[in-house]
Amino acid sequence: MAQVKKPAVVPPPPPAATPAAGQDLPAEVYRQAVAQADVAISITDDKANILYVNPAFARVTGYDAASAVGCNESMLSAKTTPRAIYHDMWKSLDGGHPWSGRLLNRRRDGSEYLAELTITPVLDPGGQVGHFLGMHRDITDMHQLEQRVRNQKQLIESVVDAAPMAIALLDSAKRVVLDNQAYKKLVTDLQVAEPAEVLLSGLGGAPAAGRESGEVRIDRPGGRGPRWFSCAVLPIAVRNESADGFFAGGDSAHLLLVATDITALRVEQEKARTAALKALLAEEEHAAKLREGLSAALYRLEEPLNVVASAVGRLRARGESSVSAALEQALGTGRMHLEDLRRIIPSGRTEATLGVNLNEVLRDVLDIATPQLLAAGITVEWQPTPVLPSVVGRPMELRTLFKALLDNAIEAVREGGRRRNARRELRVETRPGGDGVEVLLDDSGPGVPADQRLKVFEPFFTTRGGAGKHLGTGLSRAQQIVAEHGGDIEIADAPRGGCRVRVGLPARHRKES
Ligand code: FAD
Repeated sequence: MAQVKKPAVVPPPPPAATPAAGQDLPAEVYRQAVAQADVAISITDDKANILYVNPAFARVTGYDAASAVGCNESMLSAKTTPRAIYHDMWKSLDGGHPWSGRLLNRRRDGSEYLAELTITPVLDPGGQVGHFLGMHRDITDMHQLEQRVRNQKQLIESVVDAAPMAIALLDSAKRVVLDNQAYKKLVTDLQVAEPAEVLLSGLGGAPAAGRESGEVRIDRPGGRGPRWFSCAVLPIAVRNESADGFFAGGDSAHLLLVATDITALRVEQEKARTAALKALLAEEEHAAKLREGLSAALYRLEEPLNVVASAVGRLRARGESSVSAALEQALGTGRMHLEDLRRIIPSGRTEATLGVNLNEVLRDVLDIATPQLLAAGITVEWQPTPVLPSVVGRPMELRTLFKALLDNAIEAVREGGRRRNARRELRVETRPGGDGVEVLLDDSGPGVPADQRLKVFEPFFTTRGGAGKHLGTGLSRAQQIVAEHGGDIEIADAPRGGCRVRVGLPARHRKES
């Protein structure tokens, strides 16, 4: 430590008289202000030799005026502050500029503390640096606190990052301000810009108040299976950090979103469900075919009976009552048998109306039709909108509807596929549209001519031959199901050629849920 001869304790020189209002203050006020200030103040010569220290300096450093005056400020150095900092300090001071920074100091008792120091060069009337004014305070506690906050932040970030669930913190404008690795993975996995937005809309929006949790299913494009997440959203009040919030406060509402991937569990459950569904749909299909077959038979048997009825009318008019009586009896018996036949037509099952996710319905139908699609060599392009509004409907009936449309499309692609180099493609898209949800089913088959696009919905109308293989009741039944659900169905040209079937179904409004 550099030592110099101790001069007498010199009080700080009174400020030079200026035309400012302060010039009227007696020099003693300045002296007492410096002496009583609660910040460690020292005044040195131009070599940092101490000329004056105030009592606060003694409290912070342990050196009172008697032991400090005459010593160099370097006696405070703990000798571990990097040289570059002193170099920077002296460069500023020699240039006549003030300097502020942090130094590691050692007290008189040997203990160390972190000093936040400001040194101001005091210029003499000739503009030369004659003295330095040093002011410093012990910021060890504040530094410890800062470090603790930083360490805790790092610790929390590491824990959050290592967590297997996706975590995101959203600010009041719903922007993600903090996320973890699992969340970042979702961006590529789900191919969406902001998974939080999709998950929140799957939950029905951000909670107005309190915690909200639920399960969200996200359908991914490109034939990749859906993903399921168990989500929890927690509102968090974040303190206003800006200066104007110091007294006014004003928390801002952030949201903490935690999404746990439960896809593996759901896939297992889905497998079992799809198998049961397949059996149920096959049974439904069988019953529907029986209904259609019997209805068609009834419809066709009515024709000869109607011919006989008109013949009976003519015979009766001509007075040939014996023949007409026999025919009338045969007609009556025939109609009776037709009635018996009508009675044994199996009735459709009754189902409750629920909120239905059409992505799920279509995924089920595509899963069930996979063997047919593979056998026909058809490539399926599945383009679901990740989170769709629910529609109000009877799920089995809707599955029957889309299975019938899918069967038609597969048949059409098969038919069209007989041509050379024909595409064998099927595209299924769901999207919000109008006041509900739209499903587009595009096939690469021969398409339906414009003049037949209304006719195809008539019962027993078929564009296909096949010696009665097709009854032509599929689309009329499909139209009936759509109408019963308050929706609409239409046939058009697919953009890439072939047929497009568009089904629109109204969405369920939130207050109904
Ligand atoms: P050096 O920095 O090499 O110092 C050797 C001597 O030369 C010291 O007397 C130093 O003061 C002086 N010196 C160095 N460069 C110049 C220059 N360009 N012009 C004039 N003199 C120079 N340091 C602390 O560690 N803690 C403090 O709390 C502290 N407070 C200070 C308060 C004031 C008002 C001033 C002016 C300086 C203060 N210093 C303080 C800096 C201190 O004077 C030393 O520069 C520093 O401690 C490093 O000292 P050193 O012995 O390692 O070597």
